[in-house]
Amino acid sequence: MSVRDNLTIIRENIEAACTRAGRDPADIRIVAVTKYVSVERAKEAVAAGITDLGENRDDGLLHKYETLGSEVTWHFIGTLQSRKVKNIIDKVDYIHSLDRLSLAQEIEKRATKRVKCFVQVNVSGEATKHGLSKEEVIPFIQQLRDFSKIEVVGLMTMAPYTDDEALLRRCFRQLKILQESVQALHIPNAPCTELSMGMSNDYVIAIEEGATFIRLGTSLVGHES
Ligand SMILES: *Cc1c(COP(=O)(O)O)cnc(C)c1O
Repeated sequence: MSVRDNLTIIRENIEAACTRAGRDPADIRIVAVTKYVSVERAKEAVAAGITDLGENRDDGLLHKYETLGSEVTWHFIGTLQSRKVKNIIDKVDYIHSLDRLSLAQEIEKRATKRVKCFVQVNVSGEATKHGLSKEEVIPFIQQLRDFSKIEVVGLMTMAPYTDDEALLRRCFRQLKILQESVQALHIPNAPCTELSMGMSNDYVIAIEEGATFIRLGTSLVGHES
């Protein structure tokens, strides 16, 4: 399927989810995750109206940046090794995977402008998932107060890979509650108004539960091997 056709279906699903939840579709930002696909396919996404691209490896991001550099907003969505920060920091607008102090320190050292960061939370507590535990989030964000290059725009999670809707909903709801409690602290560099949650298999539920950024790979651009 063309990206355009996929996007049409996704937009319909977003509208329906927003109607059910009493939300405005304009408040949902689609990040096209292009880690599985070629530059050509990423270009097709941009031609179809996508404005935000996400990659989970520094080399993948740099490769696509060469072609699409200034045309789009760039999101780094995967585990970020501290030693890779310098390669990507002046190219990305958002990092969705801030999960430790040493990474924050490296961003602070290398960035030349403020970087919008999501703190990644392992809501489900699965051992295989990255991210802070729920209990660690607020103390962590408080430690970042004096970091001039970091703006905590919101929280991010990856839900378990399951079709158990109740479980997914619980996971997203917990992230929203946590996001609201960080927001209520009014920390100057942590407005924390956004929720990056929802992937191809669970974005509809994520939107019903408050997602403002959804990260779509397979359902939008597909998966080339
Ligand atoms: C790969 C990836 C996605 C997209 O996954 P799909 O299920 O293909 O939509 C979203 N978020 C993160 C962090 C990813 O690594």
